[in-house]
Amino acid sequence: MNAHARIVQLDAVRVRFGRERESFLALDQTTLKVEDGEFVAMVGPSGCGKSTILKLVAGLLQPTEGAVIVAGREAGAERIGIGMAFQNPTMLPWLTIRQNIMLPLKIVEPYASSFRKEKGRLFRDKVDALLEKVGLAGFGDQRPWELSGGMLQRANLCRALIHEPRLLMLDEPFGALDQFTREELWAILQELWIETRPTVFLVTHDLREAAFLASRILVMSARPGRVIDDRNVSFARPRTLDTTYEDGFVALTHALRSLIVTARQNQEARP
Ligand code: ADP
Ligand code: MG
Repeated sequence: MNAHARIVQLDAVRVRFGRERESFLALDQTTLKVEDGEFVAMVGPSGCGKSTILKLVAGLLQPTEGAVIVAGREAGAERIGIGMAFQNPTMLPWLTIRQNIMLPLKIVEPYASSFRKEKGRLFRDKVDALLEKVGLAGFGDQRPWELSGGMLQRANLCRALIHEPRLLMLDEPFGALDQFTREELWAILQELWIETRPTVFLVTHDLREAAFLASRILVMSARPGRVIDDRNVSFARPRTLDTTYEDGFVALTHALRSLIVTARQNQEARP
């Protein structure tokens, strides 16, 4: 696949939840084209359908109307490597950090077969290299409950990346962390993205986070969600915390904030 191939496409997608009179439209007329290697951040009021879009792309949910195409086929039809990370890292407490990170390799083909053959030894180095990249060198043998929230989220990133996914779905991954830890993780995630250029979908409520990491930001309206703004973010890479104090950066986060405030007011104004 070349560098500018289309990896994700949503065509006039509608998602309706619930039955009959209880049902409601969660996502309305959403059309979206994402090229391979883009870093897409999605922002918008709570409940506007951001996680729903991630689920559609991951093939975990079918649209009520419209089509979701991933790597040229209906979402979920092709075995394409997808990595996911959520706000809560949910590690298995009886496994070590290394074993937790290796878990996808035991499940996801084509890794699962070679994992069994090689008994995982080859993959150990890969895990340790990733742990080093996220600042967790030497923590592979610890158990999850021995690590802080920030450390767990670093390990969570490793687990999402261990099978070298082409699509990385991140749903508010840093939402529960303090500002300093969060900013450290932005730099790490940026570095990982520059190195391997997966296509990333990042859902976040933190507009600075979106502006720091993304190459493109989608702003969504309140329920039913629609994309109301779609803009490229072209600050030079690697971005640093200094970038976040530059005029262009501050102006961007202001503009995003206004869009979301308006979207929320529009929702409140509805009966
Ligand atoms: P966001 O991630 O933007 O906060 P979601 O995509 O999780 O929003 O949800 C959009 C709307 O759809 C919300 O009102 C949510 O309560 C509702 N919703 C999400 N998933 C389901 C489901 N499986 N069944 C019923 N309602 C759902
Ligand atoms: Mg959500």
